[in-house]
Amino acid sequence: MNIKKKTLLEIEDFVLSEALDKKTKYGLKQEIKYCSNCLMSNQRPNMCAEHYHTADKQKDFIKFEDDICDACKLVKKKNQDIDWKKREFELIDLLDKYRSRNGSYDVLVPGSGGKDSFYVAHILKYKYKMNPMTCTFAPNKYTDWGRDNFYSWLDTGFSNYLFTTNPMVHSFITRLALENLLHPFQPWILGQKNFPTKFATKVKIPLIFYGENPAEYGNPNSNYYDDMLMEWHACENAEDIFVSGFHIKDLIKKFKLNNSELEPYVPLTYDNFKDNNLKCVAWSYFENWHPQRNYYYTVENSNFKPSPERTLGTYSKYSSIDDKIDDLHYYTSKIKFGIGRTHYDVAQEIRSGDITKEEGISLIKKFDGEYPSRFLNEILDYLSMKNEKNRFASFFEEPIIDKSYFDDLCDSFRSPNIWKKTNDGWSLRKSVDYI
Ligand SMILES: [Zn+2]
Repeated sequence: MNIKKKTLLEIEDFVLSEALDKKTKYGLKQEIKYCSNCLMSNQRPNMCAEHYHTADKQKDFIKFEDDICDACKLVKKKNQDIDWKKREFELIDLLDKYRSRNGSYDVLVPGSGGKDSFYVAHILKYKYKMNPMTCTFAPNKYTDWGRDNFYSWLDTGFSNYLFTTNPMVHSFITRLALENLLHPFQPWILGQKNFPTKFATKVKIPLIFYGENPAEYGNPNSNYYDDMLMEWHACENAEDIFVSGFHIKDLIKKFKLNNSELEPYVPLTYDNFKDNNLKCVAWSYFENWHPQRNYYYTVENSNFKPSPERTLGTYSKYSSIDDKIDDLHYYTSKIKFGIGRTHYDVAQEIRSGDITKEEGISLIKKFDGEYPSRFLNEILDYLSMKNEKNRFASFFEEPIIDKSYFDDLCDSFRSPNIWKKTNDGWSLRKSVDYI
């Protein structure tokens, strides 16, 4: 199999003025709308079972009702209908059911040592007197401050299992995900979802605590339970899944990968999941989730340091700062869905009451979709199959990926209902100003 260089073919689709008769990709909504409360766009895809993600899969998107998005509806429900004291009793009941009597590990907390996993592990141990084990699927490329924060997390009293994939294979799989899905973060997401559950079965710790439920960000409110959906972490049949959008059989046959090289990306089966009585739980079901509060808690209780510089593509310095590939990930989200990192941050902070809608609009206009130049050369180098001994180089028409290759690839993933081409370059057909 040979991966050919992609370029934008249908330029005229992007030039004409009307958006409503435009082709859409990925099942995007024809018309862009923004939530009248938090500014989130109706083009935001919901979290799904990543192991069934293919290049032509039509996605599910955040739902809107009366110009209000599902994430805002959840905030309203949480503020009006939920008795948080009662939820804490539910939490204590759950913990008591799994609590060890002899001090052995009784709960697994996956994470990188960022503010959210820090918060959950720390509070489980020091407030609720559990015995957490932590586990980590290593980032593609640690930032210096991300690595320091990871160790600062452990320094506050945690053991950790760090799983690091074979870098040669991981860079190849990541390159495939970039070419096929424009999703350079997908292989890491697969690993981060699948490693903790598989690890839990090995160390016999059935209770796994995550931070937030995806409903916090707009997945259907019907998913807002204490349990995370098993479908996100497990599959029907491990021989019928997709990695980087390619069927696992093709990865073995056409790209010559073997089972141990693919193992980090393959989920447990539903049967394994049930036989081991795994319970994947979201902390945000039990306590009103506030990312900025988690950050203050983390700083107060550890040597956690925010990034020394503003994160490219946004205004914040303390969220998702441990992997150098993050900048590319959010930039590609801007290309595919018209939503960059500032936009995600703004929507969450408006919902949490940290900033106003007017501040949000001005931040989006200033930073959203900023070009990911900071680590670009290093990441493109990582994704280039350039070493003569690299056995994957022959699968690419152009094994080396440079900035111009990356820009052309990005353009080939733009959807005509979102983007128009002007003399000044690309611009959104409808920006948040129109709200
Ligand atoms: Zn909203």
